[in-house]
Amino acid sequence: MSERWANETLLIHAGRLRSQFDETSEAIWMTSGYVYKTAEEAESAFANDGSRFVYSRYRNPTVEMFERRMALYEGAERAFATASGMAAVYAALVAGLKSGDRVVAPHALFGSCLYIIKDILPRFGVEATLVDGSDLAQWREALSRPANVVFFETPANPMLEIVDAREVARLAHAAGALVVVDNVFATPVLQKPLELGADVVVYSATKHIDGQGRSLGGVILCSNAYGEKVAPFLRHTGPSLSPFNAWLLLKGLETLELRVMRQVENAAKLAAALENHSAIEKLFYPGLKSHPQHALAASQMTGGFGNLIAFNIKGGKQAAFAALNRLELVAISNNLGDAKSLITHPATTTHQRLTEAERARVGIGPGTVRLSVGLENADDLLRDLESALT
Ligand SMILES: *Cc1c(COP(=O)(O)O)cnc(C)c1O
Repeated sequence: MSERWANETLLIHAGRLRSQFDETSEAIWMTSGYVYKTAEEAESAFANDGSRFVYSRYRNPTVEMFERRMALYEGAERAFATASGMAAVYAALVAGLKSGDRVVAPHALFGSCLYIIKDILPRFGVEATLVDGSDLAQWREALSRPANVVFFETPANPMLEIVDAREVARLAHAAGALVVVDNVFATPVLQKPLELGADVVVYSATKHIDGQGRSLGGVILCSNAYGEKVAPFLRHTGPSLSPFNAWLLLKGLETLELRVMRQVENAAKLAAALENHSAIEKLFYPGLKSHPQHALAASQMTGGFGNLIAFNIKGGKQAAFAALNRLELVAISNNLGDAKSLITHPATTTHQRLTEAERARVGIGPGTVRLSVGLENADDLLRDLESALT
């Protein structure tokens, strides 16, 4: 598939491996292994010249279609599919780290990403320095001594804090660090971290890429050089994506832009309509002029500001729970990026493991809720939210 096709076309055709049966839809090669006509053929396959599939922990044709499509769409040299987003984050970080190394990241991260950096990596002698991701002075200070990896999300989960990707990448490179960006909240449609200076991009494909609540998955996008480290790590530790799930994700990619752009349109409408609602203390959406980092978000995202909105409901946990319990259309769920609108109370779900002080530092209060806007009619969603808030 030629790289000259436009993005919408790549999402539908890139990476296709059509079999001798000339199928229209991508085939699901649900197989763990592959057979050889002769022992000599097996021997040469294992010499690993890349021309044959030998075992699905290493490579599988359906998974490879998903990887090739993602690489071309993101503009990366390599893509590696994984069984979940966390497997992608963990492999992307660990593949290049060793004892004595140092990682710098913001406090405001998806809970499991924070756990890897703060709890797992230090057990193997990797030092973690955490900063306020929106404060360049803290990044500058943390990166005034050598570092090996810088990791961040922008917008970050769940309060939609923006990290200045270009400037942090510049500081990170000057400190000798590899820049890994978790681009889930922005989606590959609205933000291309590689163009902003990142070296590695990771996705939980469970979110917008599947986008229909069916499958877990993840993907790591990087250079050929970093791929040389990631490939053996994945091969030998085995967080492989199932061919069936790869097929679901391929189907998801076909409609990714359409879905994300409609979700963004809905989210922008809801954010503007709810911003000054009397039951809401403060609403966070990077697309609103009131977001303190709106200009920065606009300088690194194109086409929109995502489908996630956070807001603090007046009256704390009790009022937030009451509002959630009154919703008829929006479902209470911690997933995001789905066709269905989903809402969650971070303090008691996704960020329950944090102490109250840790939650306060990243802006999560007792009345904070995070809304993932879906594909329903925007007026229906607004009616449901308004009646729940009243
Ligand atoms: C969901 C999510 C992950 C983890 O992905 P899984 O597919 O659930 O393992 C990582 N980072 C962010 C920002 C996420 O939203």
